[in-house]
Amino acid sequence: MSATAVHRAPANPCMTCGACCTSFVVPFYWREADDAGGRVPAALTEPLPPHRLCMAGTNSKSPRCIALEGEVGKATSCSIYADRPSPCRAFTRHGEAGADNDSCTRARARYGLPALGL
Ligand code: SF4
Repeated sequence: MSATAVHRAPANPCMTCGACCTSFVVPFYWREADDAGGRVPAALTEPLPPHRLCMAGTNSKSPRCIALEGEVGKATSCSIYADRPSPCRAFTRHGEAGADNDSCTRARARYGLPALGL
């Protein structure tokens, strides 16, 4: 009897993280909101004067995006993933495609989570 290799897709560390969604203000141009022709649900945003919006809950000393579901460091997901704003689309995890992201590492450190590998 031969051993059968079990192939599993590598786990996405972001699915058990969420630190970036609870560490920074998430600002974007108001036209990204769905009431201005964009996709981000306007009901989940707050004004960020003078001309921008941010994800509700992120312009705070203890940020937590209103769209984040789950527990940081355990299991998290974005409830508006397909319609998330541009800063979220641009944010890459540290090591993604071999690139550094100190913001990812700093956010994880706030929760005692180790830096992701390159
Ligand atoms: S919109 Fe989604 S990806 Fe962006 S900060 Fe909120 S939960 Fe995170």
